Order: sequence, then structure tokens, then C-alpha cells
Amino acid sequence: MDEALGAAVALVNTAEPPETLDSVDALRAFYDQWGYTGSKPASSAELAAVQAIRPRLRRLLTADRDAAVEQINEILADKQALPQLVRHDHLDWHIHAISPDRPMDQRILVETAMAMIDVVRADEMRRLQVCQARDCNGIVLDLFETGAGLWYGPNTTDMDEYAVRSSGDAMDAPVRLFTGQTDRLAWPGEYEKGTQVVVQHRLPLPCTVRALLPQLHTYDR
Ligand SMILES: [Zn+2]
Repeated sequence: MDEALGAAVALVNTAEPPETLDSVDALRAFYDQWGYTGSKPASSAELAAVQAIRPRLRRLLTADRDAAVEQINEILADKQALPQLVRHDHLDWHIHAISPDRPMDQRILVETAMAMIDVVRADEMRRLQVCQARDCNGIVLDLFETGAGLWYGPNTTDMDEYAVRSSGDAMDAPVRLFTGQTDRLAWPGEYEKGTQVVVQHRLPLPCTVRALLPQLHTYDR
């Protein structure tokens, strides 16, 4: 999963009642969890600012392609984004478009907009799926030519197998390699609290995971 988009989805989800981004400590934990760089938030004003961008992020993440373009361009202009190649920590050259000493809310907006550029250019808006159900907590795996034996779960001891064989397949024929998106896989635990998902392939068959697609809660319908 793209780190910036994953963080944006998680951030949007914290706004769902009950509010879970409810203290500076919670914001600092969020900062650590998603490996942010730059100044670490320490004040309630910074917390309020980050809380306040969530509706805007949500609009962006759930927009159709053309509407997303408008919002991306608006954010980049508004925050005077300036793409620069940087190398830091264990990361090779990559683009930052906003200085690390700008406030966290502005950095999140710009980083999300930058990540969305790739989604728009690749015409992969469907990667950001919006779930209709209020209690929807899940992910979808985008697989390429993947054989039977794929397991997933919140940790290595509590995993379920994803059935790539469908009931319509002949039992005496080998299971065909599966390409496409899985059904929504339940994701036990709460996404915004840092739940991880483990994906394992346990058979000597090909497996390519093209994307892990988090699903957004929707709560304003
Ligand atoms: Zn970086």
C-alpha cells in the first residue's frame, strides 16, 4: 500500500464516531505509526489543524478521477508545493513536495495530493474503494496470476485462506491462476489503531500482490 495514501485513509477513518484522534498523544502516535518525517506535532493547535483537514482528505479520496484532479491541483497550488528529490533514512531518491518544517496538516495534504497524482495518472481510482456499509472494516487485495494457497490475517497465527477456486470450477482440473481483485476481506481489529495485515502464500505457486486496498468507512450517508 502506498504509505501516504494509507496514512490518509487511516486519518480520515479517525473522524468516524467515536473520534479516535482525540489528543496530542494520539496525533503523535499516528505520526510515529506512519513514519512521518519533519517536525513532530506537540500542540493542541496542531491537533486541531490535522483534525480539520479530514473532510477535505475524505473528499479527495472519494472523488472521481476528474474531480480528484481539481482538488489535487488546488492543494498543490494552495500549499505552494515544490517537488524536490530527497534521500533520507533508508529511502533512496524520492520526491518530497513540501518542506519538513511546515505544519503537519499541510504536509499531509500535500503528500496525499502527490500520491494521488500517481493514482490519477495510472487511472487507478478504483484502488480507493469506498465501502457503503457503516461498519465496513476491510481490505481488498489486487492479485495478478496468483495460485491457490493465499492466506491472510492480522498476524501469522490467526489467518484465513482466500479461496481462489470457485464452485464452478471442475474439481479434477488444476485451479486457474487468479487475476483481479478479491472480495472484501474482513480485517479484524481497528484499522486506525495500527492493525497490520499479513499476507502469506503457502504453496509453490505464483503469487503477486499488486496492491492492498484499504476500504474507507463512510458515515455521512
Ligand atoms: Zn521521504
